[in-house]
Amino acid sequence: MSDTLMVSVSGVRGLVGTDLTPEVVARWAAAFGTWAHTGKRKPVVIGRDARTSGPMFSQAAIAGLNSVGCDVIDVGLVATPTVQLAVEHHRAAGGIILTASHNPIEWNALKFVGPDGIFLDTIAGTRVRELAAGASLPRANYNAIGAVEADSNAISRHLAAVLALRGVDIRAIRRRKFRIALDTVRGAGGALMPELFERLGCRVAAINLETDGLFPRPPEPVPENLKALGALVRRKKADIGIAVDPDVDRLAIVDEKGRPIGEDYTLAFAIRAVLGWSDGRTAGRPVVCNLSTSLVVEDAAKEFGAKVVRAPVGEAHVARKIIELKAVIGGEGNGGVMYPALHVGRDAPVAGALVLTLLARARASVSELVARAPQYTIVKAKQELGAGNRAPGKLDTVYAALRRRFAEAVADTQDGLRLSWPDRWLHVRPSGTEPMIRFIAEAPSSGDAQQLIEEGRRLCAAS
Ligand code: MG
Repeated sequence: MSDTLMVSVSGVRGLVGTDLTPEVVARWAAAFGTWAHTGKRKPVVIGRDARTSGPMFSQAAIAGLNSVGCDVIDVGLVATPTVQLAVEHHRAAGGIILTASHNPIEWNALKFVGPDGIFLDTIAGTRVRELAAGASLPRANYNAIGAVEADSNAISRHLAAVLALRGVDIRAIRRRKFRIALDTVRGAGGALMPELFERLGCRVAAINLETDGLFPRPPEPVPENLKALGALVRRKKADIGIAVDPDVDRLAIVDEKGRPIGEDYTLAFAIRAVLGWSDGRTAGRPVVCNLSTSLVVEDAAKEFGAKVVRAPVGEAHVARKIIELKAVIGGEGNGGVMYPALHVGRDAPVAGALVLTLLARARASVSELVARAPQYTIVKAKQELGAGNRAPGKLDTVYAALRRRFAEAVADTQDGLRLSWPDRWLHVRPSGTEPMIRFIAEAPSSGDAQQLIEEGRRLCAAS
């Protein structure tokens, strides 16, 4: 396999035309179909984001699935969570999503969803990988080839399910007649986000609604990429600006003054919406986020007495922890909200509806909501590992040095080492893709966060 084809537990990603070709896609789809095929002829759901390579790869993946006897339900150009919901709806054997999420336009990927609507775990992902690398796949004879069926209702079912959620206060939102500025970056969001907000009684002013995959800016919804949305908010005097990533599982907010508030607030706001007006069903149930999620999320949960449990970084880790603990809500600090009342996957339509619920009920502007709680700065850094330090075990000496230096901190060793104090934390973990060690710190000021990083780097260099 070539250099830029990146294989992970939940999928395979590559540069279109260089490494990710129809042949590669068909083979991986056939491998996934072999894994998913139970002999009961359960179908596999397939969907894609708006990338220009989507239709081509979709056909290749369908051919691969059919070739091992898998029936396919094609939901077309949709959001990632729409595919996950369609897997559950059809009681399918699994799903394949053709999306490279927030990666630039020249990338695409296959992402594998299990029969539970969640991305594959390590065991299942390893099995699919073995099948893809193996000498032969069990191809069907002429009379056992799978069939294809189109399902054009997946988006409307998704929207109806979001609007039916107990945690979404449609009446309160409709009363406020919010003015929303929306940027869907010419990804799949144009296919469902405007309709969601219109059905919530909002007036929507949008940019980049085309679903042609020609991203006009770097597609990740981080503050530096949301300048045009900020300008739209100011021009239209909107109450809120909302951006989603190309496959619509992450949502970021711009305040009414046109300033991006940072993706961490999406989950913090969603938590306040769900816990703030609960009917007792949420009592005692925790909130789950990953080890690198901001303290603004923890503060939101603590406001309502909810315990926060942190899982290793990775959507599937957070999802499985939510199920295990029957968490009321969870997600990631990157704008990914997971609300198990609908399903356990990151879902931007759910995030948008919950954020508007909070805004409607709290009777405060976005900037006022931000100002009500403590604020922090996150600083990230990475450092190359010395030649003598590349063996995985060597990081243990770095972790040990950090724990000695910060003996008073609470240590979490689920995923690298995370040291935490009441108002700050430092997370140190090896990079999954390069011989680097990653540092991420959060503290009330950037100086404090930087200090934690510097101390971490110093100990790393000395270990
Ligand atoms: Mg995404």
